[in-house]
Amino acid sequence: MKLYGVQAVVLNSRQMRDADRVLTLYSREKGKIQAVAHGVSKPTSRKRGAVQPFCHSEFMLRRGRELDTVSQCEGRDIFPGLWNDLDRMGYAAYVSEIVDGLTVDGEPNKAVFDLLLGTLGKLETANVPDLTVRGFELRLVSLLGYRPHLDSCVSCGNESLNPVAVFSAANGGLLCKSCAAGTGEVPCTGETVAVMRLLLNWDPAKVGRLRVSIRSRDEMRKAMGEYLQWLTEKRSRSMHFLESVKEYRTTD
Ligand SMILES: [Zn+2]
Repeated sequence: MKLYGVQAVVLNSRQMRDADRVLTLYSREKGKIQAVAHGVSKPTSRKRGAVQPFCHSEFMLRRGRELDTVSQCEGRDIFPGLWNDLDRMGYAAYVSEIVDGLTVDGEPNKAVFDLLLGTLGKLETANVPDLTVRGFELRLVSLLGYRPHLDSCVSCGNESLNPVAVFSAANGGLLCKSCAAGTGEVPCTGETVAVMRLLLNWDPAKVGRLRVSIRSRDEMRKAMGEYLQWLTEKRSRSMHFLESVKEYRTTD
């Protein structure tokens, strides 16, 4: 029975049989892990606090044949500011869902862990939480190797994207007006392009000082939404491909 310790953020917690829950953790040491926490739905469970969604906890896990199990855990930070406010809780759930959707089990990435933890902390007090989340999305996709191209038109290299460009998820960045094809593209004003560039390169602690129009915030939300959806689908397509190759090989 092999035990190992990790510090992790709880991305998701699903009810199993009895009082057990299956946790999806994002750990600093081992990346994403699925683990069973026995008895944590009982009101008397001492582990209860440390396995709540968004909680940053220390875990001692026992390796299992299918799923690992939680042997011990202790909460480090439960981010109380997220639990007192439904909007902030919604943003935290969204951030957790994106990390879950774009990562695979057992591929550690310390920078992703630090970004996730830092973002949950900032969401407790951020005065413009949607911009904090946009900055998180841009940095997350960059850390995973999908930094969007925002400096010029992906297709022709045209740098004058003001006053208007489009964001194309399938092209991984911006297209100028003449290269835009129309389908699945999100129009972006010059302001939107400028703010996205800033968020990609800027210190996240300074995001609260930005003044951004509602229109630009809306355009960024749509552009990043399209991009994340496209990346998630691409990831599940390649997972599916790997699975079918594996099946082919085992039946060979
Ligand atoms: Zn172009």
